[in-house]
Amino acid sequence: MAKPRACRECHFLTIEDQCPNCRSTNLSSSYTGIVVILPGSKPHDDPRKHSYIASRLNIDKPGKYALKVR
Ligand SMILES: [Zn+2]
Repeated sequence: MAKPRACRECHFLTIEDQCPNCRSTNLSSSYTGIVVILPGSKPHDDPRKHSYIASRLNIDKPGKYALKVR
């Protein structure tokens, strides 16, 4: 399985050549830490409302993200 790369714009982890979250092609294979943001109780709930990590990283959609992208 290919190692996912992290989007430099939104930190989303993907194995595609383009970030499915923000459509950026600015991807990095050099990152540290993985954060998984779980969906809230309601669909399309903003994770920043119930997750400190999501609000610190400004993540507005559940998914797998890199903690630090170089
Ligand atoms: Zn992105």
